[in-house]
Amino acid sequence: MSAPRRKLVAGNWKLHKTVAESVAFTRELVGMLAGARDTEVAVAPVFTALRAVSDALEASNIRLAGQNVHWEDQGAFTGEVSAPLLRDVGCSMCIVGHSERRQYFGETDVGVSRKVRALLSHGLVPIVCVGETLEEREANRTTDVVLGQLDAGLEGLSDADAAKLVIAYEPVWAIGTGRTASPGDAQEVHAAIRGRVAERFGAAVANGARILYGGSVKPENAHDLMAQPDIDGALVGGASLKADSFVAIVAAAG
Ligand code: PEP
Repeated sequence: MSAPRRKLVAGNWKLHKTVAESVAFTRELVGMLAGARDTEVAVAPVFTALRAVSDALEASNIRLAGQNVHWEDQGAFTGEVSAPLLRDVGCSMCIVGHSERRQYFGETDVGVSRKVRALLSHGLVPIVCVGETLEEREANRTTDVVLGQLDAGLEGLSDADAAKLVIAYEPVWAIGTGRTASPGDAQEVHAAIRGRVAERFGAAVANGARILYGGSVKPENAHDLMAQPDIDGALVGGASLKADSFVAIVAAAG
């Protein structure tokens, strides 16, 4: 029997909070989550707040994540931030391929794959986001779309590298809309994702892979979603911006 997967709840703060607000909020979370040991917790602030949040997280178990990364380490890439620079400010994880980046900033599957490899080569854990639009779901294309994004994002990885990833299934129609996939619908997609990881990287990697659900997770629905056998935590946007709701979601994971 393989070890049970440790749940992960990650807060994506998106484009919210000044440095001062981020630090005050981090201190609040550190205090409130001091006793939460079973579930792994991560926060992804804006780039400008990473250093200060990293300092505020010292001596806590909460992990720091970037929201995006460039695939090159350095060079003439105005406006970008690289994996070594994320490490330099204390990040150990980074979100990649979030649907907002795919939708508004032209992020492609090829770009996602390059970013995944850049992060892994610098010892950072990629949180690779996949998910279908409403149109794709209504056309019964959910599995094709999600597994297609997964295949492309994980292109060329060794089994050892694939074992380090976190995958987040985030139906685009559920992000920031208040609509959530039902636990059963989400479980179906999570099981398909795990099945594809098994096909490509073997059963051991698939059994160990953490697959998060994201899309309007809140304290009211978090428990039922994370109680599903293939849902190993949550990527939380809106509800991660308030300590009470984020802490309640972490509690629901345990
Ligand atoms: C997200 O940004 O990854 C997300 C899931 O947002 P929300 O929880 O607000 O839907």
